[in-house]
Amino acid sequence: MRELSGGQRQRVAIARSLAVNPRVLICDEPVSALDLSIRAQVMNLFLRLQKDLGVACLFIAHDLDLVRQAASRVYVMYLGKIVEHGPSLELYDHPSHPYAQMLLASAPEVDPIAERQRRAPLMMGEVPSPSNPPSGCRFRTRCSLAVDECSRQVPPALKLSPGHTAACIFAKDLHRGKRSALTTADADAA
Ligand code: SF4
Repeated sequence: MRELSGGQRQRVAIARSLAVNPRVLICDEPVSALDLSIRAQVMNLFLRLQKDLGVACLFIAHDLDLVRQAASRVYVMYLGKIVEHGPSLELYDHPSHPYAQMLLASAPEVDPIAERQRRAPLMMGEVPSPSNPPSGCRFRTRCSLAVDECSRQVPPALKLSPGHTAACIFAKDLHRGKRSALTTADADAA
């Protein structure tokens, strides 16, 4: 294995895992250690496995472009809890939890004009300890939209469209574009 490149090692690992005819593959940061050209090849291999063999793949990743390319459903987690989930296209077009909005906005744009217009996320503070999370909404110490109510109760997961939910008291406004976590002012007021 030591003579193999990173991409070759990854292919060997995939072949090994397929030897037991799995129905599901759990892929934890499967391409993060690979360079860009090899990433695309390995991701195409995963997509072929899904299509040709019917193997479901669960990707755990920080690379949002990879998630967009590979996943039909996306689950966004913060401090060990799912804060938003939905069909990939819907969630990327209408992120409705402040953390999901900030995550997506933090990814640089390839187009230089779009990159100049990109609104920088207003993420505040440090990540709290998962063993001692904030009361109520776990994201409240970093959220630009937090109000007193956020500390009093865990926000329920609000249904926004078929299969799309977000756990924020303002999720419906965020989904409709009436608020944004990327500015302090409500879009309505602009
Ligand atoms: S419930 Fe409050 S603190 Fe939590 S994400 Fe929504 S606005 Fe922010």
